[in-house]
Amino acid sequence: MSTESIVIVGGGLAGATAAKTLRAEGHGGPVILLAEERHRPYLRPPLSKEYLLGKADGDALPVVPAGWYAENGVELRLGAPVTGINPAARTVSVGNGQTLDYGSLLLATGARPRRLPLPGSDLAGVGTFRTIDDSHHLRAGLAGGGRNVVMIGSGWIGMELAAAASTYGNTVTLLGLEDVPLGAAIGPELGGFFRSLHEANGVRFRLPASAAGITGTSGRVTGVVTDAGEALPADLVVIAVGVVPEVSLAEAAGIAVRNGILTDPSLRTSAPGVFAAGDVANALHPFTGGHHRSEHWSNALNGGKVAARAMLGLDAALDTVPYFYTDQFDVSMEYSGFPTLIAGPPTIRGSLEDKEFLAFWQRDGRVVAGMSVNWPRSAKPQKTIKQLISAKTAVSPDVLADPGVPLDRLLPDA
Ligand SMILES: Cc1cc2nc3c(=O)[nH]c(=O)nc-3n(C[C@H](O)[C@H](O)[C@H](O)COP(=O)(O)OP(=O)(O)OC[C@H]3O[C@@H](n4cnc5c(N)ncnc54)[C@H](O)[C@@H]3O)c2cc1C
Repeated sequence: MSTESIVIVGGGLAGATAAKTLRAEGHGGPVILLAEERHRPYLRPPLSKEYLLGKADGDALPVVPAGWYAENGVELRLGAPVTGINPAARTVSVGNGQTLDYGSLLLATGARPRRLPLPGSDLAGVGTFRTIDDSHHLRAGLAGGGRNVVMIGSGWIGMELAAAASTYGNTVTLLGLEDVPLGAAIGPELGGFFRSLHEANGVRFRLPASAAGITGTSGRVTGVVTDAGEALPADLVVIAVGVVPEVSLAEAAGIAVRNGILTDPSLRTSAPGVFAAGDVANALHPFTGGHHRSEHWSNALNGGKVAARAMLGLDAALDTVPYFYTDQFDVSMEYSGFPTLIAGPPTIRGSLEDKEFLAFWQRDGRVVAGMSVNWPRSAKPQKTIKQLISAKTAVSPDVLADPGVPLDRLLPDA
């Protein structure tokens, strides 16, 4: 086993999981984790859900317990942004002017919220949402209820934040460029399901609509003007219009970048000894034969593991079926699959009205993606959906829709 020095840039889930995997696989050499944020690596999904709602405490967030780094000889440097990398010399530069040598380097720099060049977006009360500090800040603004909140963005984060804001008793209006929220992600029928869920809980939609400007007095936000000229009152505005992969270090170093850092299935970049994982990596996926950049928790977890193993010269490929989840009001949703392969509308098993259903998307008769909403976990729907996708066997939509046919009966060796 190698004893080379491994440097990890980025203290998110991918970076911390890589450090954990390096030690679990027996790597005895130095491991240095350089993190720009001042918090130890933590999970982001609860930030817009149970943590924002005050239903989970800080103990639910850390990727590993605080003492783990010292106990396992991982040098964790917080508040240490990397300012440059030199793949030819195998060095990284840190903010304090210091240069560190590496044998292998992992870029796990994640993504940053996309910003809008909107007049008024620098007013107090207007923000984006990505970090634990953002969650603390927004919770303080939402918790008392009774405020006007405008959410700009109809994707997963905008919808989760709208749900939390409304649950606290605020008046929430959501603007988005799509006809239906989440339409780009899950199509009009299921996007419509989430819209109805939100409307039943008091959220108001302006779709399609964009923000033309944000107004304020004395440096503080008072409203949002839409492109249709409507003036919406606002005490708080969140801009949740997607993220941009943080590729600046790779780009400056001449590493191949296209919608993220390009990698092979083992997460090797175009520079020898440099790997990328998590939101920043656009990895070649063996299942689709195309590059795939995922902005989901399980991709950062699995990517961190794969990159660590590959850095140690072990067999490793990121070949799992992508997975993510969301919780909004009384709906828990899980999704597995390859959105880029979907051809046509979903087949539904169960009832949208009762908020308990499965949805399957197909291509050439094969299941390529599947969603479960409030489906009993004991039935392990996601495990079976992933197996169905991997099996690549054709299944008739009638059978998929039939609640009388147990899901696992659809697997080829059942
Ligand atoms: C609010 C929220 C809710 C989410 N909910 C879900 C969900 O329900 N389900 C789901 O599947 N996924 C969800 N996600 C997505 C999931 O959290 C991300 O996919 C995951 O966090 C990506 O991890 P990462 O380690 O690749 O990147 P990040 O978590 O972005 O971590 C990267 C880190 O690198 C640091 N960094 C960047 N540049 C440098 C540098 N030059 N030097 C040092 N450090 C640097 C950044 O500051 C950051 O801390 C959510 C994300 C957010 C923000």
